This record gives sequence, C-alpha cells and structure tokens, in this order.
Amino acid sequence: MPEKVIIIGSGPAAWTAAIYAARAQLDPLVFQGNPYDNNNKANGTLPLGQLALTTEVENFPSWPAGDTRAYLKTALKPDDLDFPYWVADDKIPQPTHGINGPELMALMRQQAVNFGTRIESKDVVKVDLKKQPFTLTMHDGSTVEALTLIIATGARANYLGLPSEDKYKNKGVSACAVCDGFLPIFRNKPLVVVGAGDSACEEATYLTKFASKVHMVVRRDVMRASKIMAERALKNPKIEMHWNSVVEEVLGNEKVVTGVRLQNNKTNVKSELEVGGMFCAIGHTPNVGFLDGQLELNELGYVKWTTVARTYTSVDGVFAAGDVADDYYRQAVSAAGTGCMAALDAERWLGHHGHV
Ligand code: NDP
Repeated sequence: MPEKVIIIGSGPAAWTAAIYAARAQLDPLVFQGNPYDNNNKANGTLPLGQLALTTEVENFPSWPAGDTRAYLKTALKPDDLDFPYWVADDKIPQPTHGINGPELMALMRQQAVNFGTRIESKDVVKVDLKKQPFTLTMHDGSTVEALTLIIATGARANYLGLPSEDKYKNKGVSACAVCDGFLPIFRNKPLVVVGAGDSACEEATYLTKFASKVHMVVRRDVMRASKIMAERALKNPKIEMHWNSVVEEVLGNEKVVTGVRLQNNKTNVKSELEVGGMFCAIGHTPNVGFLDGQLELNELGYVKWTTVARTYTSVDGVFAAGDVADDYYRQAVSAAGTGCMAALDAERWLGHHGHV
C-alpha cells in the first residue's frame, strides 16, 4: 500500500506539515535525512535543518525569555529518538531572549511524533514523479510509494568555502544576520558582510543596529543589489565598502573570530580588518538535486509554486513548503506557515481523489 503523505525534510515546514497531517489522521511518514552523511554535515542538511545550526531564535512567536530548559525537560522524552544531549547535561546555556534553534526544532519534531508521525532517518536520493503513486528511493536503495508528497528540503546558505571559515562557524561566522546579529558576541564590534546582493545590503544595514561598524566586502566594483537596497547601504555612515575585494582567510583566536584577511583582486594587495564576526550573504542554494528536473523551478532555481497562495507544484499531488520554494522570506515562521498549507493541500487532494 502506498503511503498517503510523505514529507521530505526536517525543518519548520516539514514538522508543521507533519503535525497537521498526523492530526488529520493521514499517518504521515517523514524522511528527516541521514545524520551520518558527510555532505549533509557540510551542507547543514542534517536532521532538524538549518535552525539546528543556529543559537538563539528570538523571532519565532511564542518564545519570549523564560525558563525554556525546564520546559524542554518535560516536553521532550528521553526515550524518544535522539534525545538532545544539551537538555540532559545542560551543555548549552539557557537562552536569554528566546529559544535555541536546535531546541525549537526538537520540540517541533516531538509535537509531530506525539500525534503519530513516523520518522525515517534516510536521505531521499531519487524520486519518480511521472506516475501515481510516486516512487521514492533512499540512500540505502530501499524504495517507498506515496500518493502525495510534501517537499520541504529547505535551502542551504552559500559560504565561501574556506577552511578557516568552516572552523569559526557558530564562533563568529554566520550566514544569517537576522538570526544571529543580535547576539552578544557581535555587539558593538566591527563586522564584515560578504556579498553585494539585496541580502548583503539588507544584512549590512540590519547589522549597523548592533555593530560599531560594518565592512561590506564586494568582489566586483558594482553591486548586484537593487538600486534602493544598494543606496540604503551606500548612504549608511556605519557601512564602509571594500570594492574588488575577497576574503582570503578568517582570522581568530581559536575561540572566536578576530579579523579577516582581504585581497584586492585588481591590485593583489592584501590587508587585514579587525572584526568580531563575518556574515556571508552570497546567496542560497535550494536542496532540489534529488528531484532531477521533474518539478518546475523558478528563475532562481527554487521549486515553483504554480498557483498563487497555494503550495501546488507543477506535478499534481506534489506540494512544496518552506525555503525550498521560498527565495524571498526564508524565515522559520513563514516556513511553518507554508508547511501547514501544504498539509491542508495534500489532505484536500486525497479527499478529491477518494483516498480519505
Ligand atoms: P544574489 O544572488 O542576488 O547576490 C549574491 C551576491 O553575492 C552577489 O553580489 C554576488 O556577487 C555575491 N557572491 C556570490 N558568490 C560569491 C563569492 N564566492 N564571493 C564573494 N561574493 C559572492 O543573492 P541574494 O541572497 O542577495 O538575493 C537572492 C534573491 O532574493 C534576489 O532576487 C533578491 O532580490 C531577493 N532578496 C530581496 C530582498 C528584498 O527585496 N528585501 C532581500 C533579500 C533578497 P556578483 O554580483 O559578483 O555575482
């Protein structure tokens, strides 16, 4: 018997879809990804998604400051799945302004499990969307069939790919100013933003609220950003531009970032900037490789929502939610919202086709 709903992903969109589908008694199966895959580790596509790579999440409604640690110990069950070690031995301090990203995700997953969601820790490496039921192939070669599919595989932030950058991820290197810019390690310090698109301009402008100064490192002598966003950054007195420049190395004291080494790619002159953090804003890559061109993508390579205000894709019975289809908002709460929509769309599809 094919599954009624299979959800691929492990972030806010996937777990919200699972909560809704489970409560609608669709018995959803979630493929949350393979935790042992080295590519997953490098890409941040491990179970629990991009938020598992962040620290405090302060903008997910319903998490003001409070004793979340005490709550977590009662909400998450030690004998369930991979009970988060940080709750058991208090390795990560209690957040002061919200909830830690991994904790938020563990709670979302637990909520889905509480309603009967089944979970497999496997990567879906291939899909056949050409005929109903759809066939999914896992990394271990096993296959499964599904009547409806919710694609919620997210997008991964692009990084420069420097070993020193990798070393200081979560210690001053980030790819999300909105997520991390407010953190104490970045407060009142000079910071670097790499990139010159709308994201870079937005992130640099946002960071000027907290940083003593923001250096924008741009690899060409022009910005890719829209005029209005570029002008906002260029006019900001706290932002200094470094044109025709690339970050060659992230410098640190083993614990945190202390600077970056730049190279001017016109003159080859090297220089160092003393900074407390580096934010990469050089674009995102949606996780669509396993689809092998079977779903229509938009001009930026994200899964295309084919109908306004619906999560429909170009294949009937396949729905998309969260960052894999959202090149614009990319927030946990908006991903959760589209996850809910995708589950409702799948439920209606099953109803219309006489499966529930
Ligand atoms: P973009 O692809 O538009 O810009 C990426 C930027 O990063 C470019 O300046 C690019 O340089 C630079 N870059 C890429 N790779 C490297 C590298 N290895 N080293 C140094 N620099 C690099 O991505 P964005 O995330 O900025 O925007 C994506 C989409 O989202 C756009 O359509 C944008 O308009 C939209 N958006 C809109 C916002 C808004 O309107 N408020 C806010 C944020 C995003 P180069 O130009 O040389 O290629």
